[in-house]
Amino acid sequence: MLVMHTFSVAQRADLLHLVSEQNFELIIIGGGITGAGIALDAAARGIKTLLVEKGDFAGGTSSRSTKLIHGGLRYLKQMEVGLVMETGREREVLHRNAPHLVVPEKMLLPLIKNGTYGPLATSFGLWVYDKLAGVKDNEQRVMLDKAQTEQQEPLLRTDILEGGGLYIEYRTDDARLTIEVIKQAVAHGAICLNYLQANGFTYNKQGKINGVVLTDRLGDKTLTARADVVVNAAGPWVDEVRAKDVTKPNTNKHLHLTKGVHVVVPYYRIPLRQSVYFDVPDGRMMFAIPRGHVVYLGTTDTSYYHSPDQPQATQEDVDYILSSVNYMFPTVQLSVKDVMSSWAGLRPLIHEEGKSPSELSRKDEIFVSEGGLISIAGGKLTGYRKMAARVCDRVAKWLQAHRGKATHPAATDQISLCNNAFADRQAVEQYTAQIAARIVPDGLDKSYAQFLVFNFGAATDAILATFDRIKSQYDDVRVAVAIAELDYCYRHEMVATVSDFLIRRTGRLYFHRRTVEPLVRPLALQLAAWQNLPAAVAETWEADFLKTYRAAVEFLPAEADSAMVA
Ligand code: FAD
Repeated sequence: MLVMHTFSVAQRADLLHLVSEQNFELIIIGGGITGAGIALDAAARGIKTLLVEKGDFAGGTSSRSTKLIHGGLRYLKQMEVGLVMETGREREVLHRNAPHLVVPEKMLLPLIKNGTYGPLATSFGLWVYDKLAGVKDNEQRVMLDKAQTEQQEPLLRTDILEGGGLYIEYRTDDARLTIEVIKQAVAHGAICLNYLQANGFTYNKQGKINGVVLTDRLGDKTLTARADVVVNAAGPWVDEVRAKDVTKPNTNKHLHLTKGVHVVVPYYRIPLRQSVYFDVPDGRMMFAIPRGHVVYLGTTDTSYYHSPDQPQATQEDVDYILSSVNYMFPTVQLSVKDVMSSWAGLRPLIHEEGKSPSELSRKDEIFVSEGGLISIAGGKLTGYRKMAARVCDRVAKWLQAHRGKATHPAATDQISLCNNAFADRQAVEQYTAQIAARIVPDGLDKSYAQFLVFNFGAATDAILATFDRIKSQYDDVRVAVAIAELDYCYRHEMVATVSDFLIRRTGRLYFHRRTVEPLVRPLALQLAAWQNLPAAVAETWEADFLKTYRAAVEFLPAEADSAMVA
């Protein structure tokens, strides 16, 4: 049964009260895509679920990926056929359930002399990929000769070009996907709270975990939540959380974090006709992905040994990405001055002796400690539903054996992430056109309709209703519409600070960085006013956000990451 209620920081005191009063069947630590997926699957099975996130939802790796829902062509090369099949099929499910947010993206794979993929291998590889991933007929690969590839993407260097393959991937926004999954978990009865950190465990007389000690990071209080089963879905922090469990682990496997950086440049500086997945001189491959008025480029893959809390791009990362792009698209000659924004994320991979970062498997694994802590590590954004099902099967088995509770696997493939607002992509496009017609007379750009619908789906109607009501109070229409979006996110998406809104609910820090400055103060003041907080709190949020805002174009010295190792 759906338990639709608003999902707002305004309810926080009541929710914290429930957290310390109730006995949960499942507590999930970590509000990235892995934890979110588990919360939805568990709640949909009727398991009484609490999810706690120490920062904001998707504040870890799940807002810092390449943002592709992809079948993993590279895994075919590593012969990880099962992974290709699973993730390939998942694209279809996610596109169907969120057609506004998981959108088909034409991808060009240029074939170059001595490149990663030769013409025959690519043709065969993409064919196998289509078959394994169950790709629709109209989205199957097309092979191009050299002239056709040049025509398809005139910016490519021609001297080493031999041809190309065109295929379809799906682009998303990882943080938006995470929040939509969490909203559905809440709609199915889960309690999900951000800024609530797990600091330790409580145990029963048999030494089994029966609760989690939590710190409320907005109120600085400590509380304990009781649970039958605890799942650690803390991504790059999985080992840190495992270390808080005093019982013996069942394995000595541990994480190997690798850092991946992306940079964002203006579209006019590299006006690609579609996304490109291209070879770089050191034998790796990289993406260039247009998104609105910008193109994002990446990624790197280097071992990372510092605290997972604040990964940042180094000058070396940025130089590597730009020189790789300039090598494949020689006329653009990007420089660091073109970089408008950047992000760095950590892959929570499982260590394998002697393997380099790029060789490590992206497969997920589950570890269970003697005290019963279930930890899940590895995996991909794309495979989150399947990972969740595997974890929830274990939880369900435990509840059946120890509590006699019968549950059934959840059909999360049937749970719409847009409340069934759109039948398909065409419906999304029609809706976007209607929204554009509605906002242009108010002085907003037509492209803003795409931004609204990609981020908020059919909730754009509610946002524009607020906008119509308040717009006369603002001199700047862009501030008015941002306040209307904030109003929605405050009431329905658990936004607690201005960074939650500007970074993870709307991606403005990465994709609209130059529009952000005039918005920060009015947004911070409004959010503080709704929460009855003093202006000083708004100032702290503003300062925090501006720190991240500056860090997105200030890169650490080249040696910073290796210094961190010491
Ligand atoms: P996270 O998103 O990091 O979530 C873990 C959460 O746990 C964090 O929010 C953290 O704050 C919280 N936490 C930690 N400790 C505690 C505690 N004590 N109490 C409470 N909460 C805690 N996958 C794809 O499918 N497609 C891609 O295009 C893609 N590109 C990628 C590119 C890069 C550069 C990287 C790094 C990864 C990429 N991935 C991609 C992989 C994908 O992003 C990750 O597998 C996924 O986001 C991991 O999600 P997670 O929930 O496990 O971890």
